[in-house]
Amino acid sequence: MDDDGLHARLKAYEGRPAAVAGTGRDPVNAPMIRHWCEAMGDGNPAYTGPDAIAPPTMLQAWIMGGLGGLGGHGGRAPAYEELLAVLDEAGCTAVVATDCEQEYVRPLRPGDEVAFDTVIESVSERKTTKLGTGHFVTTRTDVRVGPELVGTHRFRILKYAPARRRAAPPERRPRPVVNRDNAGFWEGVREHRLLLQRCASCAALRFPWLPGCQSCGCPEWDTVEASGEGTVFSYVVLHHPPFPAFEPPYAVVLVELAEGVRIVSDVVGMPYDKVRIGMPVRLEFRRYDDELTLPVFREVTA
Ligand code: ZN
Repeated sequence: MDDDGLHARLKAYEGRPAAVAGTGRDPVNAPMIRHWCEAMGDGNPAYTGPDAIAPPTMLQAWIMGGLGGLGGHGGRAPAYEELLAVLDEAGCTAVVATDCEQEYVRPLRPGDEVAFDTVIESVSERKTTKLGTGHFVTTRTDVRVGPELVGTHRFRILKYAPARRRAAPPERRPRPVVNRDNAGFWEGVREHRLLLQRCASCAALRFPWLPGCQSCGCPEWDTVEASGEGTVFSYVVLHHPPFPAFEPPYAVVLVELAEGVRIVSDVVGMPYDKVRIGMPVRLEFRRYDDELTLPVFREVTA
């Protein structure tokens, strides 16, 4: 089948159900909320006490089937299985989850019993990615309590034909993922400044960059330039698995800056087995290639 023919066949699945009349395995409940908050390190008081709500990002947790699947609680509809089979036949046998988007309509509370339906929202035209060529499939799950919509969960996968392995290209260090939450950090790095975020409300410093303050939740912030002094707080030596552009064994260090926050980095100019906890280090910027400069550290010798 040619590309257009395949895409037309795939498009025909848009709007068809991917899961029908699913129900959560458990009602929204305090123990799952507590475990989630512990795992996330989230101490927000809104999630405890008699008026607790569930963390909004738990939306998917209430509709997952767990290891046993949803069983008698509804689940995958035939149309979705068929769509995946069409893609398999077309050679797109590999799958990777790419991203998810959620919208919250109203908070969930312990005792809420969720139900959901999932629709195949879109199937992209043929796209070529580093992994291979294939189609993005987006599903949208509407989560309800009774008749009331409480949130939506969009989930996107790429079904693709794995790219043939070619002779290894020259290996470069991985590129940082720059987004609106951390762009200012990377602008600072370009100017050889290590910028920390400082909360506009409580003045707590934070690193790595985050949209809000971990101490008080305030979303307003400014920046402070780190002095560059620090000590090795901890480190690991990597032997395995190997990553492109990194020659094992090597040390990955956690440096505690004089300002009190910590950064994962590299101690340069020293064999991996000479790195020690407590070692005083100083910041420098190392240029790895035309596009990549990173903050690294070097031992301060008396
Ligand atoms: Zn704060």
